[in-house]
Amino acid sequence: MNLIFMGPPGAGKGTQARQIAEKYSIPQLSTGDMLRAAVKAGSEVGLRAKAAMESGGLVTDDIVIGIIGDRIDEEDCKGGFILDGFPRTVAQAEALKGLLADRSMTIDHVIDITADNEALVARITGRSTCSKCGEGYHNQHKAPATAGICDKCGGALATRADDNEATVRNRLEVYDTQTAPVMDFYKNSGSFKSVDGMQSMDDVFKSLCNILG
Ligand code: ADP
Ligand code: ADP
Ligand code: ZN
Repeated sequence: MNLIFMGPPGAGKGTQARQIAEKYSIPQLSTGDMLRAAVKAGSEVGLRAKAAMESGGLVTDDIVIGIIGDRIDEEDCKGGFILDGFPRTVAQAEALKGLLADRSMTIDHVIDITADNEALVARITGRSTCSKCGEGYHNQHKAPATAGICDKCGGALATRADDNEATVRNRLEVYDTQTAPVMDFYKNSGSFKSVDGMQSMDDVFKSLCNILG
């Protein structure tokens, strides 16, 4: 099963993709995670992506298209995958169409997770992630038992440099101007569905499972 999870920053794409990946045994391909790993490693891609990520702008299309093209050719994607945070521009959606056609692959579901802007700002500014296992937390909606420590593995929780209010407002604007138009690209395809991301995390998960079967 090949899936695309769309939605503004903070909508819950990562939280849900992680659980759906586990349930269906398919990998979660987050371009944000891959880019952060590249920045941390100091690779050429990382150096090219760093400034855009820090300001909340988008990394250039050629970089993310290259990353995804390589990634879907890996063995663990043969049984399906979840694209989390890609495509984010119409040019990326067009490129993905070509990548899939070349491989005789299709997308089964494009799922847009929606949420109000004020909720998004609160979600992003309260977000933290385990630096060891990747589990996501929120200081109000999913607080760890011990502050700063992952419930699952005891790893240290980290906050992202770009998860501050100024950058978040910029990211929401970038979403409206550059990513929202991607929805029109998929809306008439029959595989497009929208899920209310203002529900509890468990209810969003249930809604997704209902769609995916
Ligand atoms: P995205 O990947 O779309 O940017 P995340 O999955 O990282 O979003 O979620 C952003 C933050 O909001 C995280 O701290 C997460 O714990 C929290 N969160 C996710 N889904 C919900 C929800 N349905 N209700 C409340 N908080 C949520
Ligand atoms: P969020 O889900 O909170 O928006 P991500 O982890 O998906 O954050 O992305 C973090 C940053 O990485 C983005 O603000 C952007 O700079 C860059 N990025 C991630 N995916 C893409 C993409 N498909 N195209 C361009 N830039 C991207
Ligand atoms: Zn952990």
